[in-house]
Amino acid sequence: CGIVGVLGTHEVAPILVEALRRLEYRGYDSAGIATVHDGHLERRRAVGKLVNLSDLLVHEPLRGKSGIGHTRWATHGAPTADNAHPHKAGPVAVVHNGIIENYKDLRAELEAAGLSPETETDTETVALLAQHYMARGTPAVEAAMATIDRLEGAFALAFLFDGEEDLMVAARKGSPLAIGHGDGEMYVGSDAIALAPMTDRVTYLEEGDRAVLTRDTVEIRDEAGRRVNREMRRIRMDA
Ligand code: GLU
Repeated sequence: CGIVGVLGTHEVAPILVEALRRLEYRGYDSAGIATVHDGHLERRRAVGKLVNLSDLLVHEPLRGKSGIGHTRWATHGAPTADNAHPHKAGPVAVVHNGIIENYKDLRAELEAAGLSPETETDTETVALLAQHYMARGTPAVEAAMATIDRLEGAFALAFLFDGEEDLMVAARKGSPLAIGHGDGEMYVGSDAIALAPMTDRVTYLEEGDRAVLTRDTVEIRDEAGRRVNREMRRIRMDA
């Protein structure tokens, strides 16, 4: 339902939770964040209000300067902590808005290849597929792109990877996603309002776009894989 992502220079967990708070108006049943710290992806997820996630983070803090966060409105799989985003499979963590229509076919294919889904969600399939490609030696960015190519339905996505503190892949099709430009930091948000405390410089992805982000660079490709330029705007946000 709500997506945020930060490639930052400060401890990111509180920043992610605050950004998710700005998306609360959309409604949600659970929430979670994942960060990369010392090369490792770790995540915390909780059912119910964001305060439950913040409480969990007090007892089980999450270090790291890069991370993704999500507020979920369950469509596939009950609203439980295990079904909450970020989903993780091996070296990949994913947050997702929308519905992957062909997840059952993809899931059957992945099971035939020996992977074991742990949830009933459509989103976990995205993480598993990227894991599958990476296990065959495909680098993170290309594995994410190959994964996105296989997805049918509506989605906004953000990917984070083990061992990659300065890399995020994002994509949109049928669900909005904006990139925020900071000073030596880069952000994504399903609504620019989530990014307002961090930056007023925003690039909206267009239908089918994918973006490869580092703290200092953004490379956007269209659905056919061609490099494209998308305008950066200054937004005024009084919220
Ligand atoms: N279909 C996904 C799920 O049920 C994402 C729902 C959402 O947009 O929050 O987990």
